[in-house]
Amino acid sequence: MRVAVFSTKPYDRRFLTKANRSVGHELVFFEPRLTAETCRLAEGFPAVCAFVNDELDAGVLLFLSKHGTKLIALRSAGFNNVDLRAAEQLELTVTRVPAYSPEAVAEHTLALILALGRKLHKAYNRVREGNFALEGLLGFDLHRQTVGIVGTGKIGTCVARILRGFGCQILAYDVVKNPEVENLGALYVALDELFARSDIITLHCPLVPETWHLINEEAIARMKRGVMLINTSRGALIDTQAAIRGLKTGRIGAMGLDVYEEEADLFYEDLSDQVIQDDVFARMLTFPNVIITAHQAFFTQGAMEAIARETLANITAFEKGETPPGLITTAALRPVAKA
Ligand code: NAD
Repeated sequence: MRVAVFSTKPYDRRFLTKANRSVGHELVFFEPRLTAETCRLAEGFPAVCAFVNDELDAGVLLFLSKHGTKLIALRSAGFNNVDLRAAEQLELTVTRVPAYSPEAVAEHTLALILALGRKLHKAYNRVREGNFALEGLLGFDLHRQTVGIVGTGKIGTCVARILRGFGCQILAYDVVKNPEVENLGALYVALDELFARSDIITLHCPLVPETWHLINEEAIARMKRGVMLINTSRGALIDTQAAIRGLKTGRIGAMGLDVYEEEADLFYEDLSDQVIQDDVFARMLTFPNVIITAHQAFFTQGAMEAIARETLANITAFEKGETPPGLITTAALRPVAKA
């Protein structure tokens, strides 16, 4: 099948080309993000392959549908960037890669927690400059900390499993309880209670209208003073301006982000010779107790291989008239009770 692959970086090309050797689709790689301005590139392509910061709003989907596209194959787990209702109305099939490696994202979450907890970002710079003093590097034991996990799906469950090994007490919040997480010894509590009791809060729920700015001024005010906040899910779960105020007052003691609500114009590009125009993001970079990575939690060898393989499997299934394993419908917008 002819596939227009958007937001292509050299690594996407490498992994997709290798995985495609056994399935033989015609992959055409485009570097730009998919937006209203760039969607013309996809004219006449029956399939479009998109990533996390591609914009699949109603206007773009209408254009694609009018110009021959039948399949949107996301090479991500999250699908908040797709207007699923518009896709359904236009009879566009949308697929994603739901579980390419929850471990990759969970392990990155732990990397942020441990780096912040032991101030590794500061220690790394100090030692390189010949400063071997410890003042200012005092950390805390992760053992016995109370960690609140918001969203206990595939990634949240993996995080719970790892944290159990560290001897943490785990509080959980989800719209549906996951027995696997309860079996790990986690206690489901109301969101307010999770905010009030957690030393560390980590977000693993999807970005949907109900979770937009879940972490806002009021939520932060309910948290323990000095709480560590981690977000490897989607940027807009956090009201960044409110987080900045929380960091300035010390209510938030540390913050680890792999995602940012306005990341689309920043992440995945080398802007090191440019002035950052986003003042909110620039302010975030000034805090000594904030670590930001540029949406890389998924970026491991194993995960990239799985993303490429499963994205192509979705395309192959669609082409054969079968139900793609990663099919998403508007039903995904409603929480489903877990067995
Ligand atoms: P999942 O669907 O397995 O789990 C999501 C969980 O969130 C479910 O248990 C669901 O019931 C719960 N949920 C839904 N609405 C909620 C709400 N209002 N409040 C609390 N919980 C709610 O998804 P997953 O595979 O664990 O992925 C979680 C998120 O991680 C994805 O939505 C995606 O945005 C993000 N992600 C980020 C990266 C990265 O590289 N940083 C990679 C993959 C996924």
